[in-house]
Amino acid sequence: MTQNGIVIAGGGLAAQRAAETLRRTGYDGSLRMIAAELELPYDRPPLSKDFLAGELDERMLRFRADDWYADNSIDVLLGDPAAALDTAERAVVLESGRHVPFGRLLIATGSAPRALPGSTGYENVHELRTLGDARRLRGALGAGSRLVVVGAGFIGLEVASTALRLGAEVTIVEAAPAPLASVLGTELGHWFARLHREEGIDVRLSARIARLHGTRTVKSVELDDGDRIACDTLVVGIGTTPATAWLAGSGLDEDGVRVDAAGATAVPGVYAAGDASRPFDPRQGVHVRTEHWEGAARQGAAAARAMLGHPVPPAPPPSFWSDQHGIRIQYLGHARGADRVAIDGDPPARDFTATFSRHGRPVGALLVGRPHALAEVRRRLAATPERTAV
Ligand code: FAD
Repeated sequence: MTQNGIVIAGGGLAAQRAAETLRRTGYDGSLRMIAAELELPYDRPPLSKDFLAGELDERMLRFRADDWYADNSIDVLLGDPAAALDTAERAVVLESGRHVPFGRLLIATGSAPRALPGSTGYENVHELRTLGDARRLRGALGAGSRLVVVGAGFIGLEVASTALRLGAEVTIVEAAPAPLASVLGTELGHWFARLHREEGIDVRLSARIARLHGTRTVKSVELDDGDRIACDTLVVGIGTTPATAWLAGSGLDEDGVRVDAAGATAVPGVYAAGDASRPFDPRQGVHVRTEHWEGAARQGAAAARAMLGHPVPPAPPPSFWSDQHGIRIQYLGHARGADRVAIDGDPPARDFTATFSRHGRPVGALLVGRPHALAEVRRRLAATPERTAV
């Protein structure tokens, strides 16, 4: 099973961390990385923040210098995406038709943005996942340009905040009654709406798009209450799906590959990590896809260790950060399913901790403007007794 070496499908964070861990842990066999983009692995969080604002040089996004891959004998196949997985032949079939055999495989193909129905084909409609997307969007934003952001999730809110800093006039259109309501609940969601409004963003809630006006470009967005918003650039930030359509017919889940705590799938020698995976969370007793930087980095390294037969430490509670209007926002654990939220601090002053608990035990926390409190909150959540596996 090992004679064909290790293949990593995906060229992002989890893939890079896995490759690095394999080499650092002493694996000296063949190692190949299959990457859809023409870029060596790079970091995505700045794409909606400093890089979009024009404050970070593109070369700073790369995780490692370009020659690191050759120096570590990592064969990176750029620009030829994985198109199918043949578990009988134990090979990944690339879009070009090439078969890449593997002894062990890591699936780390990340996420793909959801498209807004009816928005394809317009020149000024943007999604934000790749460096190419960020370059295009950056070129479209500027002082006085009118930006409509559809979706008040973390990425939509960050793009809105960055565009405002660049001098754009920004409107956010969100179908739910509050931003992030499905993640944090309505009360905290309203805090985010207030934050963005106070900064000068027009936030439209419980608002649905009835139609887009324009031929080659969207000139205005019509809401279902008849209101029309003029638009030079439209950004769609309505969530993602796992980039796993290429696994169709392989027997593995396409809605995020279910893995155990070490990243192993149901197919021997096949692992998954990062946004493309759905790891088992012993705290919740279910498989959960998290889409967080920290999780993807840790899972990539953990799967590499598991492939080599090394023990994998238990995962800490998931954590995520976001920067909006100069405020550091951090989210740990899971708020979903909580039966109580306690607020400590001063929400109007943008300085508070919201602790989510279930049956009297803390299960999640949102920190606003309190990066110094993170370590303590993390310790408290990690101490929450785990459920046994189902
Ligand atoms: P990715 O980093 O997306 O890498 C997947 C790679 O696989 C990509 O290079 C892709 O091109 C490639 N690929 C896709 N399909 C195929 C295929 N068929 N064959 C071969 N290769 C393929 N997280 C935070 O915690 N905090 C933040 O502030 C934050 N900000 C973000 C801002 C933006 C704009 C984005 C897009 C994400 C942000 N995230 C943030 C999320 C974080 O970046 C992701 O969770 C993380 O990148 C996931 O790593 P990954 O390796 O699973 O996927």
